[in-house]
Amino acid sequence: MIIDGKSIAEKIKNDLKTEILELKSKGIIPTLAVVLVGENSASKIYVRNKKKACEEIGIYSEEFNLPENTSEDELIDLIEKLNSNSDINGILVQLPLPLHINEKKIAEAIDPIKDVDVFNPINTGRLISGDTTLIPCTPKGIAELFDYEKISLKGKHCVIIGRSNIVGKPLAMLMLQKDATVTICHSKTKNLEKICQNADIIIAAIGKPKFITKNMVKNGCVIIDVGINRNKDGTICGDADFDEVKDIASYITPVPGGVGPMTIAMLLENTIITTKMQNNIDIKKGEI
Ligand code: NAD
Repeated sequence: MIIDGKSIAEKIKNDLKTEILELKSKGIIPTLAVVLVGENSASKIYVRNKKKACEEIGIYSEEFNLPENTSEDELIDLIEKLNSNSDINGILVQLPLPLHINEKKIAEAIDPIKDVDVFNPINTGRLISGDTTLIPCTPKGIAELFDYEKISLKGKHCVIIGRSNIVGKPLAMLMLQKDATVTICHSKTKNLEKICQNADIIIAAIGKPKFITKNMVKNGCVIIDVGINRNKDGTICGDADFDEVKDIASYITPVPGGVGPMTIAMLLENTIITTKMQNNIDIKKGEI
């Protein structure tokens, strides 16, 4: 079965529209600051898509475009202004940043209560300790896919390939909280094929096209494909060899149309959550 992330994301966005109307009736306009430094063309597309998604559901977004030669201090100055501006509910700094800017310092500069991407170590620490109020967008989107498809993780062997701070590591924490037995693999892992053959669930966040092949997948395995790779003809594909593994897997996410739209939907949801936190409004159960 192919998991239709695009239509699940649409449903979530529709639910969020109702919540935004409720907030607006209280005089609260959820507002996201989107900061882009430099001219990275992929980043420009991501920012445009995120802003468009905000507009679609009624989140106000303000874009801050800074030149490539912006210094780390200048960027931190802007973040501090946004931190203290009560009209701003969420702050997103699009990665990657130019090499002269330390991404870790920038993540630490964002006020945890406005940290919609959930990159601030205070929030990642909270996630490790079991507080799931704010969860990074891609891991959260993947968890929602499991919920929507009613795929239980209890006792399942979940193999995550990739150990980035934005996907692999927080995802491992989340899957652990959902009672999976988690193995995290990476570029130095030995016997990856064997480990994958034992997996009930494989989540690939590698960035290598057709990396997951049929010899790695056991019958009935769930495959979540996070990878976004550009083909020579400009189209995109995931990390799994979709045609080869789709009939062995019980569930699989396509690329495009799987994890990607969920990531954006979760950014919107996190913006609503931070808006509510700042206005002392209860976050509905089941929302997180
Ligand atoms: P990354 O690009 O920072 O790192 C890649 C990871 O893959 C590393 O942890 C590395 O150890 C692992 N890896 C590389 N080669 C490997 C190998 N041969 N065997 C096993 N592991 C290997 O990771 P990222 O930022 O999480 O991105 C991974 C992919 O996911 C990229 O294609 C990225 O574009 C995509 N991505 C998609 C979304 C989405 O919303 N769909 C969100 C974030 C990232």
